[in-house]
Amino acid sequence: MTKAFDIAGSTVEPGTSMRLGMPAGRLFTQQVIEIPLTVVHGAKPGPTVWVSAAIHGDEISGTDVVRRVIEAIDPANLRGTLLALPVVNVFGFVQHTRYLPDRRDLNRFFPGSKDGSLASQIAHLLMTHVVSRCELGIDLHAGSDHRTNLPQIRADLDDPHVRELCATFGAPLALHAPLRRGSLRHAARQAGVPCLLYEAGEPMRFDPAAVRYGTAGVLRVLKKLGMIKKAPAIKVPTRFSRRSRWMRTSRAGVVHLDVALGEEVKPSTTVAVVRDINGDVMCRLRAQRGGIVIGHTLNPLVSRGDAVLHLAALEE
Ligand SMILES: [Zn+2]
Repeated sequence: MTKAFDIAGSTVEPGTSMRLGMPAGRLFTQQVIEIPLTVVHGAKPGPTVWVSAAIHGDEISGTDVVRRVIEAIDPANLRGTLLALPVVNVFGFVQHTRYLPDRRDLNRFFPGSKDGSLASQIAHLLMTHVVSRCELGIDLHAGSDHRTNLPQIRADLDDPHVRELCATFGAPLALHAPLRRGSLRHAARQAGVPCLLYEAGEPMRFDPAAVRYGTAGVLRVLKKLGMIKKAPAIKVPTRFSRRSRWMRTSRAGVVHLDVALGEEVKPSTTVAVVRDINGDVMCRLRAQRGGIVIGHTLNPLVSRGDAVLHLAALEE
């Protein structure tokens, strides 16, 4: 028999879901800011998994993924427990910005501490109430700073279990990404909890492909863990990459891309042309190696050295 799930001062009965708010601090006008959390506690025992979005406040497409995942799950038929956080950085979310009010990047302050900066306190809150309760986490991101990303998982591909989960998720690409100190993924790993990081689309948009791949991917992982019975089938298997590189422009100007997200390019293909404002060609960006386009700038106005296109080399 499944027991009730106690979290952050609330009790969720088996076979039910509950919407909660975890107090994350106060505005200087004294209003309490809460991190929204939906606990879907299954009628049957099973693993506990978290799915979180908008740890960077302007990367909002994951918020819609979380909504769709919650809608797709019936607690009466769920095995285990889903902790769903549509907006982690509420401060940044309401301000349309990646950062916290003190310009700190929340995803550099994990595992945090109870009495540190606001970023550190929120990180600590998440580690205490969410990460420490889970067997697995999925953290949803989008491109930052006028960039868009092909839906992709970034994870430690040297871990066979994680690599298998990447294939289960079914995004077009899985990219090996070493753990970055201070990130939620790093702190979770240190606590023994693997975490998949999903990157897709652009900031401040509900990108349709990002939402579709993200929702299907989370549901597939939950199905793989035996928590739910149905998930969308994978149409095209995930491709793997261990190396990626941003191509930068050697001249300032106006950039025109010749390739799209997901496109495969051969070595020495021209991927973008930078012109001056009258249309005269300043430089051409050519791929040194072959690969797949996994991200690009959305801002056509570039300075010398700006990142234009993100290319990943596919595994043999
Ligand atoms: Zn992010």
